[in-house]
Amino acid sequence: MLFRIYVFFLLLATLLFSDTYIPKSLEEEAYLKQLRTKEIRIGLRKSEFYNISTEEEKSLNEIVKDLFQNYLNLNVKFEEDYYYNLKTNLIDNKIDIIALINREDYSNRFLNFTNTLFSETIFVASTSTQLYTLEELEGRDIYVAKGHLYKTYVKAILKNNGINARLIEVDNLNDYKDKLILTPTPVLYNSIYGVKISNSGGIALGLADEYSDLIPILDRILNELYREKFLESLRNTNRALALKNFYNSLTPKELEYLHTLTELKIVYESEYNTLMSYLSKLEGDYKGVFPNTVNQIGDLLSIKIIDETHGHLKTLTDLKAEKIDMIALSHTRERSRDFIFSKKIYEIPLYVVNLKTSTDAHRSVGVLKESVEEQIARRYDISSNITTFEDFSEMMNALNKGLIDNMLTANNTYFNPQKYNVSFFESVPVNMAFNKENVVLRNIFDKAMLHLTNREDILKLSTIEKDTEDKILMNTSQKVKNLFYLFSLILIIGLSFILVKLYIEKKHKEELLKDPLTGLANRFVFNTFCSKADDELSGYAFAIDLNNFKKVNDSLGHEFGDTIIVEFSAFLKHIFSDSKIFRISGDEFYGFIDDDLENIVQKFHGYIYFCPNMVRHGVSFSVGFCRKKSSLSIAEIFKYADLAMFEAKNKKEFKFKLADEKFIAQKEREDKVFNVLKENIDGVYPVFQPKLSLDNGKIVGAEALARYSSDSLGLIPPLEFITIAERYNFIHKIDYTIADKAIAFVKNELIKGTLPPDFRMSFNISVVTFKRTDLIAILSGLLEKYEISGKYFEVEITESVFVTDIQDLIGKMKALSELGFLISLDDFTAGHSTAGILPLIPLHIVKFDKSLLDSIELNREGGSIVYKSLISLVKELNLKIVAEGVETAEQLEFLKEQGVDYVQGYYISKPVNIEEAPLF
Ligand code: C2E
Ligand code: CA
Ligand code: CA
Repeated sequence: MLFRIYVFFLLLATLLFSDTYIPKSLEEEAYLKQLRTKEIRIGLRKSEFYNISTEEEKSLNEIVKDLFQNYLNLNVKFEEDYYYNLKTNLIDNKIDIIALINREDYSNRFLNFTNTLFSETIFVASTSTQLYTLEELEGRDIYVAKGHLYKTYVKAILKNNGINARLIEVDNLNDYKDKLILTPTPVLYNSIYGVKISNSGGIALGLADEYSDLIPILDRILNELYREKFLESLRNTNRALALKNFYNSLTPKELEYLHTLTELKIVYESEYNTLMSYLSKLEGDYKGVFPNTVNQIGDLLSIKIIDETHGHLKTLTDLKAEKIDMIALSHTRERSRDFIFSKKIYEIPLYVVNLKTSTDAHRSVGVLKESVEEQIARRYDISSNITTFEDFSEMMNALNKGLIDNMLTANNTYFNPQKYNVSFFESVPVNMAFNKENVVLRNIFDKAMLHLTNREDILKLSTIEKDTEDKILMNTSQKVKNLFYLFSLILIIGLSFILVKLYIEKKHKEELLKDPLTGLANRFVFNTFCSKADDELSGYAFAIDLNNFKKVNDSLGHEFGDTIIVEFSAFLKHIFSDSKIFRISGDEFYGFIDDDLENIVQKFHGYIYFCPNMVRHGVSFSVGFCRKKSSLSIAEIFKYADLAMFEAKNKKEFKFKLADEKFIAQKEREDKVFNVLKENIDGVYPVFQPKLSLDNGKIVGAEALARYSSDSLGLIPPLEFITIAERYNFIHKIDYTIADKAIAFVKNELIKGTLPPDFRMSFNISVVTFKRTDLIAILSGLLEKYEISGKYFEVEITESVFVTDIQDLIGKMKALSELGFLISLDDFTAGHSTAGILPLIPLHIVKFDKSLLDSIELNREGGSIVYKSLISLVKELNLKIVAEGVETAEQLEFLKEQGVDYVQGYYISKPVNIEEAPLF
C-alpha cells in the first residue's frame, strides 16, 4: 500500500515538475526522435571557470550536460577543449555543438547561435595596480590572451574614448595578472582592481548547420527554464571564486582570527537618514549601503551581524572599551588617535546652512565637536571663527539666535526653505572604525569589501529597497498615505526649492524636471500634477510596470536595460503623443489619458511591433487603470491604478486590469480594516475550539483561533484580517498575542486545577512569523513569563513554511521541541507536492484539512481512498493525525474506523468564547 502511495506522489511530482522536455508539436517530437538515433558531439569549455561547482549548485558545464543529456534526453558525447580548438574542431567536423561560445564570434560561417544565455562584461583588471577610471589606461600596456575575440573590440572602444593603450597578446594571461590584463572573468585571475570597458555580446550555444533546427527548441527551453539555471550557476561561480580569492588574500593570522569570529556587534550611522543607513519604518532595522555591505559580508562568511544601533548613545566610548566591534564613522585626525579605519564605504554630502535673513554669510561657522565637519571647516579655513557644539539641536539654536552665521552639517533633515538657505558643500567619505587594537579585523574587513562586495550592486540594491519601502508606505493606508502625501509634498516643495536653486546656478531649469534617460516627465512633475485638485479632469490614470525587466537588466547588462527603457518610453510617447506620461522609477511609468479604455488597450498592444528589443528578450508589461471620478482625487486614482497593476502582474505577457467599483470598494475595505487593526492590534483575542481524542472520547486539547471586532466595522472575519496582517507584515503581533493569551488561559486553568490531564493548547504561527528571528525568544519568553512548561502547547504551522530556508526551519522546529512544544502541520491536503518532505522534518502531528473530508462527501469511493491512503502514509511516519472540520456523525464514525487520533469540528463544538462557554 505504502509503495503505491509513494508511486502516486512520484507520478504527481513528475507531472508537476517534469524533468524532461515535452515536445510542443508532433513535428518536434518526430524531429527529436530522429535526433536520438545518432550521437551528437558537444564541445565544452575547458577552463576552471566553467567547471566550478559547489554542494548546492552545478557548474556551467554541468548545466549544459544536464540540458542535453537529461532534459532533451539526447544521445550525446562531451569533450572539453580550449576555446580556440573548439572552433577548429567544429570546422573540421569533429564536434557538432559548442557549448558556451561568444555570439559575436563569427570567425566561421558554419556556426548558428541560440539566444544569449548571459552576457559578459569585459574588464581591464589587475591584482596590484589600482584602477578606477578608463582614463588611467592612457599610455599603458594591456595584456590579452592570444587570439581573444575581445582584442579588436576593446581597441575600438579605447580609440573612441581617445585613449592610446597597447594591447599585447600573450599565451598565458596568468603570468601578467599583476600588470593590466583584459578579461571577462577578472575573478579567475585573483584581480581586485578593474575598470569596466564594455559589455560584450552574449554567450550562447553554437550549433553546426546540420543542427540548426534544434535552435528554436533550445531557445524556448532557455526562455522557460534554463537561462535562469545558467544565471544562477554563473552567480555561484563568481561567488565561489570571490570567496577563494578572499581567503587567499588573508595572512595566516587573519585566517586564524576569522575562524574564531562568529559574530560582530555593529553600530551604524543613525542620525542622518541617508541611503548610507536609515531606519526602515517597515521592518524596524537599519537598511542602506552600510548595513547591506556588512550583512552581505556576514552572510558569505557566516558571521552573525548584530545590529546595536538602536538607541545606542556612547558609541565611541563603547568602541574604545571593545563592547562593540565596528561603527560607522568618518576618518578624522583626532579620531585616529583611538581608532583605525576601513577604506571608504560610502560618501555623504555636507551642507552649509544659514538663515535667509543673514546678510553676511561668511563670518562664523558652527560644527559638531570632533566631527568630520570640524576637520573640513578647519582645513578650508572657512572662517577663523569656528564654534564647536556637542549636539545638533544646540547648534541649530545658536544659528537661530544669530550666535553663528553658518553651520556645516551632514544632517539633511528638513530645513524650512522660507527660513534657511541650504547648499551643498562637499562630499565626505565614511568609513568603518575599529578599536585601535583590532588591526586584524580591520584588515579582514577591507579585504572582504574588496573581494566580496560590489559597490555598484550594493548601491543599486539599497536604492531599490528604499524606493520599495517608500512605495509600500505610500500604499499602506489612506490615512497614513494622506499624511505621508502631505509630508512628501512639503518635503518635495522644500527639496525642489533647494534643488532648483542649486541648479539654476549651474544649468537649465527645465532639465531638472525631465528624466535624463527618456526625456519623460519625472516623479517631481508627477507629484505636482497630483497636487492640482482638478475636478474637470476626465479619462484614465494608468500605472505600468515592466515584466521580466530586472532579469534582462541583470543578465544582459544595464546599457542594454537602458536601451529597453528608452525603446518603451519612445513607444509611450508615440501612442499617447499629447498626454501626460511620467517615469516614476526604473521600470515604472504613470500616465493620464483622456480616451476610451478600449482604444487605450488597443494602442498598448502595439508594443509587439514598436519594441523589438523588448519582445526579443521576453520583456512585457502590466498595466493598471483607474477612471477619474469626482469622488476620487488624482493621487487616489493613481493609487488604485497602481494596486490594479500589481494584480495584473504576469511574468510572460502584456496584461491589464481596471480598478473598477468593486476593486476600489475592496481596497477601501482593506484600508479600513488595516487602519482599525493598526490602531488597536491588542484588541485581538482568542476563541477556543476543543479537540476530542477518539482513543478515550475526552477533550484533550483546543485550538486558539484569533478574533477581532471593532466599533466601526463589527466582527471582522479572521481570514480577512489575517491576510491583511500578513501582507503588511504585522501578523507576528497577532500570532504572539494569541499565543500569549492562550498560554495565560492554560496557566489559569492549571492554577484552578480544572485543566484536564494531558491537555494541550494549540495556536497558529504564520509563515511570516515563523521566518522571524525572534520566534524562539518570544515563545520561550512567554513560557517564562507564565512560569509554565511548553508541554502544554502545540504550534500549528502550514506547508508554506517549507519554502523557506530548510536549515532555518529545522533549527527552529528543534528549538521548539526542546522547549516542549509539539509541532503540527496544519491544513494538510492531498493536493500538495510537499508530502515528500514530511520524513525530513521533525514534526509530531498532521492536521487533515476540512476539504479532505468534504471530498468524501462529493465522491464517496475516490475520496475515502485518498483519505485512507494519506492516513497510512502519515502513520507510517509515526505522526499523529487530527481530522479538522468534522460536521456529522457519519464523518466521526468513518474517522473512528480509520484510526484517526483526534478530531476537531463543529460536530464536537464550534470555537467558543471562554467567558460565555467554558471549555470543560
Ligand atoms: P485553521 O487554522 O485551519 O483553523 C480552523 C478553521 O476552521 C477555523 O476558522 C475554525 O473555526 C474552522 N472550523 C472548525 N471546525 C469547523 C467545521 O466543522 N466546519 C467548518 N466549516 N469550519 C470549521 P476560523 O476561526 O475562521 O479561522 C480561519 C483561519 O484563520 C485559520 O484556519 C487560520 O489559518 C487563521 N487563523 C486563525 N487564528 C489565527 C492566528 O492566531 N494566527 C494565524 N497566523 N492564523 C490564524
Ligand atoms: Ca490551525
Ligand atoms: Ca486547519
